[in-house]
Amino acid sequence: SMLNPVNILLVTVLSSIMSLAILGSLRPARIPGVSRWIGAYVMASIALVLAGMQPMGMPILTVLVSNTLLAVAVTRVLEGCREFFGLRPRVPLAWAGCAALAVGIAWWYWVEPDLGVRIAIVSAFHASVYGAIGWLALHDRPPGRPRYSYGFVTWSAWLGAFAHGLRGMIYGSGLVHQTTMLDSTPFNVAYLALGILVLPALSIGMVLLAHDRMAERLEHLANRDELTGALTRRAFVTQADALLGAARAMGAPLALAIIDIDHFKAVNDLYGHAAGDRVLAHFGRVMSSGVRETDLFGRLGGEEFALLFPATQREHAAARVDALRVAALSVRRTADQPAPIHGTSGAEQSGSGEPHLAREPAHDGLTFSAGVDALAPGDTLTTLMARADAALYEAKMRGRNQVVSARAAESRDAISANDDTKIS
Ligand code: GH3
Ligand code: MG
Ligand code: MG
Repeated sequence: SMLNPVNILLVTVLSSIMSLAILGSLRPARIPGVSRWIGAYVMASIALVLAGMQPMGMPILTVLVSNTLLAVAVTRVLEGCREFFGLRPRVPLAWAGCAALAVGIAWWYWVEPDLGVRIAIVSAFHASVYGAIGWLALHDRPPGRPRYSYGFVTWSAWLGAFAHGLRGMIYGSGLVHQTTMLDSTPFNVAYLALGILVLPALSIGMVLLAHDRMAERLEHLANRDELTGALTRRAFVTQADALLGAARAMGAPLALAIIDIDHFKAVNDLYGHAAGDRVLAHFGRVMSSGVRETDLFGRLGGEEFALLFPATQREHAAARVDALRVAALSVRRTADQPAPIHGTSGAEQSGSGEPHLAREPAHDGLTFSAGVDALAPGDTLTTLMARADAALYEAKMRGRNQVVSARAAESRDAISANDDTKIS
């Protein structure tokens, strides 16, 4: 019948070869892990062809080599997945498992022949590796990526782990006795269908993962500012609007900061535009490494940026922006990394002869000013940004290198409105 074990092996080999064609087409994209997956599927195909030849004898090839090669193949699938997810690919434990498995198979084939024990140890090995693959795809999905591809890998891997685990327990406990691997008993057929067809299912999963990585790269190219790594203005506004809507729907707080680098024109004037670009790139790195995955960091234009903090109160957001201000400040000037403002006090500036900006506090690092406000009823992104922008203006007026939250800005307006009108 169609459902005899040899046919199932054949179907698996054919679909593995088709997956190889697709994975091969993804090779030029240099997606981490794809080369290991290709190697794994070449080995798995050979192993399955050898396994299908068991009725012809040659146990060294059809039992020992075939099982060991299949174990090495799934180990390489796991390593490819680890590489894909940016982890150290090597899994010494799995390689030790492959070696132990080879010894065990030889022992329970030639020294103390026992098919049940052989099936149990092979199944235990595969169940463990598939379990690990499923966990990786569940746990290491990059934040913000759609769940589908990763969920597909998790469920097919765990279905395979379940089938192998069940089979290992049943044979290991001696509940089922079978004389050859490829018997057409219903249980054996069911196991082969679940346990071996996991290979082609997983290969489809690998292709889905590779495609998701390519989509991520394209989205990154389209939505990120190359120099600073921040979202482009358009992407920021789109994503911020969505987060605003979600916050409003859930009644959750949300805060927004607008940031402007201090005296940036002076950096360009003193050191040149290329140096200014390096400062911007450095500023981008400080911000990107300081915000959470759920925050948005966007470049509104020039040296003006925005940060959006979901589920965050205004004063908490202001404190976080201030911590970023301190982090940026500690960026010292080097030949490669000029800071916007020179030291104007202390021993550092004595006799340097370099120009400096009068009336500004002494800093050897990169400084910025920021205004922060929180989402209020009836807000749109535009009105919220306008209030944060007003607070930023206030921060500039107060002497720069500081974070002003909108409430503080208001109270000052109330106290000294007349003084301020002169400035504006
Ligand atoms: P303030 O403290 O008041 O913000 O002073 P500022 O000099 O930073 O203010 P302003 O906004 O007038 O100057 C911004 C300058 O940033 C003007 C522009 O030449 C420079 N700039 C904008 N985009 C870039 C860029 O991509 N690279 C470089 N190198 N400079 C840029
Ligand atoms: Mg500026
Ligand atoms: Mg500006």
